[in-house]
Amino acid sequence: MSEKFDVIVVGAGPSGNAAAYTAAKAGLSVLQIERGEYPGSKNVQGAILYANALEQIIPDFREDAPLERHIIEQRMWVLDEESFVGTHFRSDDYNKPPYNRYTIIRAQFDKWFSSKVKEAGALVICETTVECLLMDGDQVVGVRCDRQGGEVFADVVILADGVNSTLARKAGFHGEIQAGNVALAVKEILFMPQETIEARFNIKEEEGVVIEMFGKITDGMMGTGFLYTNKDSITLGVGCMLSDFKENPNRTSPYTLLEKMKAHPSVAPLIAGGEMKEYCAHLIPEGGFYAVPKVHGNGWMIVGDSGGFVNAVHREGSNLAMTTGRLAAEAAIAAKAAGKGFKAKQLASYKQALDESFVMKDLHKYRDMPQVFHQNNQFFTTYPELINQAARSMITVDGIDKKTKEKEIFSNFRKSRSLTGLAGDALKLWRAFR
Ligand code: FAD
Repeated sequence: MSEKFDVIVVGAGPSGNAAAYTAAKAGLSVLQIERGEYPGSKNVQGAILYANALEQIIPDFREDAPLERHIIEQRMWVLDEESFVGTHFRSDDYNKPPYNRYTIIRAQFDKWFSSKVKEAGALVICETTVECLLMDGDQVVGVRCDRQGGEVFADVVILADGVNSTLARKAGFHGEIQAGNVALAVKEILFMPQETIEARFNIKEEEGVVIEMFGKITDGMMGTGFLYTNKDSITLGVGCMLSDFKENPNRTSPYTLLEKMKAHPSVAPLIAGGEMKEYCAHLIPEGGFYAVPKVHGNGWMIVGDSGGFVNAVHREGSNLAMTTGRLAAEAAIAAKAAGKGFKAKQLASYKQALDESFVMKDLHKYRDMPQVFHQNNQFFTTYPELINQAARSMITVDGIDKKTKEKEIFSNFRKSRSLTGLAGDALKLWRAFR
């Protein structure tokens, strides 16, 4: 393995596949190295696929990609211990092709994406771990793998090695992972007959529903839960900041949290009879804008989870991964065409394209969100309880007049949060979402 390539891509998740495909399609010689037995074998996602990001890489992906259901309805639930207040957005617009969002099973999807990477001309090697980057002074010139004679050289190395990003840390491109910047998520896939799913969620063949949840299900920690419908399975999971798991006085484990969520009276009937086929845990980089490290240097670029590109508010990760992968590959293609080398200066078009894209614009918009929610757990405890109490009070018909109920609701809010507290919280929400 002492060949030289134009580009080496480390990792075969959505970011690595997007980068390898784009570069190979443009005629660059590409080596992609994946430590898993096959692409997707090590990867975890909910999983919603956002079509737009993939469309820009493989416009006709719908012809053969393994897609589960297109999503026609999005629910958002705020839960207390036994109820939820929610919104449902369902639109027939989402039933008109080309569809905008799909549920997928990552193991199948990553395998399919990898087959496209190979068709585009890249050399894909699995069951091989990149141990470190090879340097010539301050220039990355290749990688060393865990194979005999495993040194490979390239003009550019694209780090698409996921949230742990050990290579970038070893090379000093970014620091240690901070527990306050990553969420630990656990998820399960429960199999059940297609007809059961369609009856329970009021959907037809190929239509899908997603439910996002927050409130008491996270035991006071900053986090959310989710439930997605696949063809003949349901994926559900919950994730909270790693630092909150460490500090949580109840010492709740992720497994306990998921079991509690499954037992919630609003969730349990939807998953009853489901047969568990898969259980896994994974980190999600949720530090947002301020946690994004330096993204390029002499002979290297960072993409996807490795660079912390996740929009936690909208639960978007794979689309940011694919977009950053594509943009990095385009920068490598441009540098190769310009013929002036692969120093940071020649790869700076990656950073520029990132800044101009929705990726950095969205992360910037929500830049204060992680800090606001981290420091104010009332948004996950007090408010969900108060909102559910208020709904219960107004909807229950019990002979008490509505004016009295309103007063009681207001007084409950005042008992839990002072007027200045309420005004301060409104301001914090504005800051988080502005
Ligand atoms: P990964 O998908 O993590 O891929 C990294 C790859 O690199 C892996 O294949 C790994 O084996 C390989 N690798 C690592 N180190 C090495 C090495 N040294 N040598 C060789 N190979 C290496 N996003 C969405 O868009 N929608 C969702 O619904 C959604 N839900 C999620 C639910 C959960 C529970 C989790 C954990 C994440 C979710 N995400 C979601 C986020 C999304 O999964 C990630 O943002 C996305 O997978 C990032 O892609 P990536 O290619 O950067 O990293």
